[in-house]
Amino acid sequence: MRKTDTGTEYGAPFRRAEGGAVYVAPANLPAGARIYFFTRLGGVSQPPYDSLNVSRKVGDAPEAVEENLALIRAAMDGRPAAWVRQVADCVPVALVGEREVGMIHSGWRGTLAGVSGKAARTLGGSGLRAYIGPSIRRCCYEVSPELAAKFAAQFGEEVVSGRNLSLQDAIRWDLERAGVEVHDLELCSGCRLDLFYSHRKEGPLTGRNLASVVREAR
Ligand SMILES: [Zn+2]
Repeated sequence: MRKTDTGTEYGAPFRRAEGGAVYVAPANLPAGARIYFFTRLGGVSQPPYDSLNVSRKVGDAPEAVEENLALIRAAMDGRPAAWVRQVADCVPVALVGEREVGMIHSGWRGTLAGVSGKAARTLGGSGLRAYIGPSIRRCCYEVSPELAAKFAAQFGEEVVSGRNLSLQDAIRWDLERAGVEVHDLELCSGCRLDLFYSHRKEGPLTGRNLASVVREAR
């Protein structure tokens, strides 16, 4: 039986599942596909892990993490997730094809190595779409001049502004060359500490978000 998720005070694309877990649900999804970029809201963890932390490795109480994972499973309504990944500032990229799905976790190293384009080519098929989830963006992501120069050389000058880097634009460049239609949710984890965890902004004592993508059998 399908549950009815409700909206939140944050408006679209935020949804609150029965049980309370709040996630971002991209628009423009093909029929049968569901993507859940979970926020930090709606869980049971105490500060500084408040509240929907899914990592056992950051010092949070194990019982709280278990309960959060149960809330997440309930939000997904028992659907088997093709991929789940823990995310703080790295970029979660959901790939949705005709039959296959994948979730990529692209930090700066992975982005330089072209992991998104490689994953898209491995997944294959036509009509692949990518959804770039909440992650640290150009406004909040300052890197060394050396790293900025590396990205500019590989992906074009547009991906950097001074020392500020847009991993999302580099990932878009990579995916478009692999023939993928790219949708960027344009949500910055660094700007919205009320909604997302940010290792870069909050230091090591923070939680981890979870992202998942599901393709229902047709
Ligand atoms: Zn920002």
